[in-house]
Amino acid sequence: MIELYRGIAPEGDLVIIERLCSRLRDRSFLHINSTRAGGGVAEILHRMIPFLQSLGIKARWEVIKGDDRFFDITKKMHNALQGNDVRFTDEMFQYHYEVNQRNARELDLEADMVFIHDPQPSPLVEFRKKGSGKWLWRCHIDLSVPSKPVCDYLMRYYKKYDASIFSISKFARGLKRFEFIVPPSIDPISEKNRDLTEEEIERILQNYNIPLDRPMILQVSRFDRFKDPVGVIKAYRIVKNYNDCILVLAGSPATDDPEGEEVLKEVQAYAEGDPDIYILMLPPNSNLEINALQRAATVILQKSIKEGFGLTVSEAMWKGKPVIGGAAGGIPLQIIHGITGFLVYSIEGAAFRIRQFLNNPEMTRRMGERGREHVRNNFLITRQIRDYLSIWYYLEFGEGRILEL
Ligand code: UDP
Repeated sequence: MIELYRGIAPEGDLVIIERLCSRLRDRSFLHINSTRAGGGVAEILHRMIPFLQSLGIKARWEVIKGDDRFFDITKKMHNALQGNDVRFTDEMFQYHYEVNQRNARELDLEADMVFIHDPQPSPLVEFRKKGSGKWLWRCHIDLSVPSKPVCDYLMRYYKKYDASIFSISKFARGLKRFEFIVPPSIDPISEKNRDLTEEEIERILQNYNIPLDRPMILQVSRFDRFKDPVGVIKAYRIVKNYNDCILVLAGSPATDDPEGEEVLKEVQAYAEGDPDIYILMLPPNSNLEINALQRAATVILQKSIKEGFGLTVSEAMWKGKPVIGGAAGGIPLQIIHGITGFLVYSIEGAAFRIRQFLNNPEMTRRMGERGREHVRNNFLITRQIRDYLSIWYYLEFGEGRILEL
């Protein structure tokens, strides 16, 4: 499988991956998260697991099960960690622990390296067997201003991990001896990101009755208030006073996000009466559809107020599109302001930058090209696999010594 990336991904990453895999061959690598569909974590795992398997690593992906009450609590935790004021009771924390206890009985937790993604399954570390492999907590969320009570509660689990990984250095907690920074990534050859023909794009857009006769502004996101879909509509309305265009907001449900439906209704109500706003609730795994929308778009927004990383930004940049992003979380890693896109801090700022792109096709094209190269060098899946394997190798063989590969 690695051969498919030659000529697309940086060669140095491929060489390091091959070297590390020859050392880690036949060893087991377990990932656990809370949903198989929806959101960036599932997106990456779907692609990373077969890649690792093709290199001789025994990679597995398990998903914890929970009921509505559990996911309501974990979504509240997510919101509190991203800065919302949410009240928690001891019963809520206790229920979070108990659901994980139940999952621990049903799951096979044995592996040489275990990655636990995000807070939902973090208590599983309590059920780690003595002498088992290394355990690592992989945090994908924006921890720039987290709620203290939730942090204090989760700390009791974090202390039991061997190491942690954050997407950007700003989120690191100074909790453990081993804290690593690994930004997420996109897969250039997946259905989501591979090249499409004009016919494929047109056919998919026709299925959704989206016209191609005017510039299209697009945001692809779960319907989540932190992604500011209403702010996107407000920015589009300002633009619409000057430039004729359409707006597409595309999202799909995630099983671990119970608020999606409510936010979708808010957005639909806010957009009502404007035939040029297209709000799409796509089924999970609509990868080709998202790809076609991103390729058909004239300008792509990710106007997040809080953001772990924002894979949609790299997805858009890989397609050579001009991107405007909220200056939150991992978005400024991807958008170098004025070089690979624009960072914005307000609705008016977003509207201003959309108009700048719409009115300057040559600048738009140049920025799009630079964005694609920036993603090639920094945010492809091969770089992330290189980083994960390096960390694993270090934890397993290298503590305290300089390594020779
Ligand atoms: N996504 C999708 N369909 C949608 C909305 C989002 O496939 O309708 C994908 C999107 O293309 C990206 C991921 O879900 O790959 C979202 O990751 P991101 O890091 O942007 O945000 P998260 O949802 O993890 O907060």
